[in-house]
Amino acid sequence: SSMITFENVTKVYPDETVAIEDITFEVERGTTTVFVGPSGCGKTTTMTLVNRLEEPTEGTVYYDGTDIQELEKVELRRDIGYVIQEIGLFDHMTVGENVATVPELRGWDEDRIDGRVDELLELMGLQPATYRDQYPSALSGGQQQRVGVARALAADPDVILMDEPFGALDPITRAELQDEFLEIQERIDTTILFVTHDINEALKMGDKIAVFDVGELVQYGTPREILENP
Ligand code: ADP
Ligand code: ADP
Repeated sequence: SSMITFENVTKVYPDETVAIEDITFEVERGTTTVFVGPSGCGKTTTMTLVNRLEEPTEGTVYYDGTDIQELEKVELRRDIGYVIQEIGLFDHMTVGENVATVPELRGWDEDRIDGRVDELLELMGLQPATYRDQYPSALSGGQQQRVGVARALAADPDVILMDEPFGALDPITRAELQDEFLEIQERIDTTILFVTHDINEALKMGDKIAVFDVGELVQYGTPREILENP
């Protein structure tokens, strides 16, 4: 069934920039949909309409069947993990504390949080005994981004938004993280929206691909369908 639906959505910024115009698509529960296209074509805007960092000018976004305007922002954001390129880890908190942020907001007990943090660090290839008590500044860019992904997964969100999550990494680290994330995807039933300007990354990561071109959704389909109708 549909987890996220965009129905004739237009976003015009206050300076009259039309970021997206009349976009309609559906994201099935448990799938990964990749938004791909050149810089400035509306990918990030589309994503930020899902966690309501921005509001649509026209049209409706549905979350699990409900118009998201009817949902509390706080509730919505508890349900939706967010990973961006410039990670935004909390520098004054250890790796473990960073990953624990959302479970703590949700009031999980300490043992459950500790177990979850260790489990996620291991999943992301960061030995908890080594990394849990380090500060982000001691880690490489790739390791920091792994912590960012672990943090987004921590409280089992229904949806994860990933905006160029591996964009700032060197090509080898980037390929490693793509492969790791593909493995993780198999093991979770989270609905994922993934933004990239790299078509190869899109074809690799996506169950569905939404191709953007200056504010319009010009193609939507499986990687195979996109390759067969370039
Ligand atoms: P992408 O993610 O594909 O790079 P964006 O969604 O960031 O595209 O931007 C789409 C268009 O909207 C661009 O022309 C961008 O400059 C513009 N834009 C993005 N954010 C704002 C904003 N806060 N105010 C005005 N224009 C914006
Ligand atoms: P992206 O990586 O999606 O291209 P940008 O670097 O274009 O992102 O935008 C980074 C931030 O700047 C975003 O928060 C976006 O909303 C804002 N922004 C982008 N374009 C504009 C604009 N023309 N006017 C105001 N803010 C903008």
